[in-house]
Amino acid sequence: MQDLLGLSPADLARAIRDVAPEPYRAAQIMRWIWENRAVSFAEMTDLPKPAREALAARFAISLPRLVSRSPAADGAEKFLFELADGVRVESVFLVDAKRQPAAEASEGAPGTRVTVCLSSQTGCALDCVFCVTGRLGAGRNLSAGEIVGQYLAIAREKRLGPREANVVFMGMGEPLLNVANVSRALDLLSREVSPRRTTLSTAGVVPGIEALSRRPRPPNLAVSLSAADDATRSRLMPVNRTYPLARLFAALRKWPLERGRRITFEWVLIAGVNDAPDTAKRLAALVKQVPSKVNVIPLNESARWLPGLTRPSPAAVDAFARALAREGVDVTVRWSKGLQADAACGQLKGDRGTGKLHG
Ligand code: SAH
Repeated sequence: MQDLLGLSPADLARAIRDVAPEPYRAAQIMRWIWENRAVSFAEMTDLPKPAREALAARFAISLPRLVSRSPAADGAEKFLFELADGVRVESVFLVDAKRQPAAEASEGAPGTRVTVCLSSQTGCALDCVFCVTGRLGAGRNLSAGEIVGQYLAIAREKRLGPREANVVFMGMGEPLLNVANVSRALDLLSREVSPRRTTLSTAGVVPGIEALSRRPRPPNLAVSLSAADDATRSRLMPVNRTYPLARLFAALRKWPLERGRRITFEWVLIAGVNDAPDTAKRLAALVKQVPSKVNVIPLNESARWLPGLTRPSPAAVDAFARALAREGVDVTVRWSKGLQADAACGQLKGDRGTGKLHG
């Protein structure tokens, strides 16, 4: 049984040619999947019955199985999915009270913005010391169908209309270690969510950044930085040993930014590790190489998975942010959403930590 979910319109047309030869069938099926959130051919009522039956005998539209939903009081909600091989991944639905610019006011409920955070791998090989997913070790790449399946499943559950949500690739895994499938997923998602409202976050996999920059309409780029010198960064994020800061920034300087757009740098703030005002100065000098803004994310702690790492006090967080602002950096402090549901940045772990984490 072949799954149709991750196929491009052209590949879908090729796949179904024997069963449904009419040239417009593929577009019709794509509309059912993407606009009507169909998960079976039986729902596709404008297809002739024999075609529906023949398609159902050969093909599937398999959304990942929803295992559980864990809402937190702040509007974040963690979705745990099981994939066809039994592996589990997590995705997060977030609601922001942030005001929309007037031009976008018709998209989504007024005054709110929703974001769907997708996973790209079932674990992560990069082993950043502050990230729970990394502590769990490498997983496998998700297919394009498994990536867009998370989005479609959440869109179905939350009754999201087209263009209502933003999408971020900030869930489990390093999206740029899965560039081929993530690119296919971006192509498919662009039917629903504009690339301008799609953000991919990377730990700094330079060849992946270069590959992404060659897309006709690249998504917004976020880079997890968290250290402003190679020695510290290599200790916190081993990927820096392969792609040190000079190489990373050489690639970022070539990143195609539309007018007025910026690269986002994420800085997980860890007490005594990267929160000194002096570090803020080095960070400012570094990020000024490209149009950018910095999101400071006070560490989400985990006594079990991240022993010894602590979040700085609110005063220290504030001091660091102020030091950055004084250097002329556009800085926002992001207090993670979804903490109570273990749905916050760096806390996603599929099923592998369940039961143990709170035990
Ligand atoms: N691999 C990609 C995407 C996943 S991480 C990347 O590294 O960017 C998504 C975001 O969560 C990154 O900005 C990362 O720095 C942040 N993060 C990871 N662990 C965290 C933690 N314990 N507390 C707060 N943020 C964390």
